[in-house]
Amino acid sequence: MCFLRPATWDLRCPTCDPASASADAGVGRYTVPVHEMGIAIEVYRTCREAVEANGGGRLQQARLAVGELSAVEPELLVYAWEAVIAGGPDAGAELEVEWRPAIQHCAGCGEVHERAEGSWLRLCPDCGLPLQVTGGDELDVLQVSFEADESGDVGTPERTAS
Ligand SMILES: [Zn+2]
Repeated sequence: MCFLRPATWDLRCPTCDPASASADAGVGRYTVPVHEMGIAIEVYRTCREAVEANGGGRLQQARLAVGELSAVEPELLVYAWEAVIAGGPDAGAELEVEWRPAIQHCAGCGEVHERAEGSWLRLCPDCGLPLQVTGGDELDVLQVSFEADESGDVGTPERTAS
């Protein structure tokens, strides 16, 4: 299923239109990598489903966990998100990215902290045992905040769906 709307963004879905996949995917109004764009669309779809499942309304904020190993660039994802919601009923909704680093563990010493982001140690600096990597592959919608769809009721408090 394709969630891209080429007429709006002048982007083409690599699945539906393979001929354009390798060429200028980011031409037109927005220059957003297709990878982040696809994820932003999926995240938005997940948020909409959560809002609809809780009575419907206007999306205000989504909180997303992004792991170090998820191959997602948070800044690009936020940029893609803004392109996805622009002009729609949820325009202006905020995407908050919670960065989740991967953690290296030593079987003997436990968690190893002496790692620069993006670099990996193969052996424990304290005891020399081989290290394992855990976590960091998250890409989860943590929380969706929205304004309930009850026209006329100005004082409706914000609802939160987890
Ligand atoms: Zn160790």
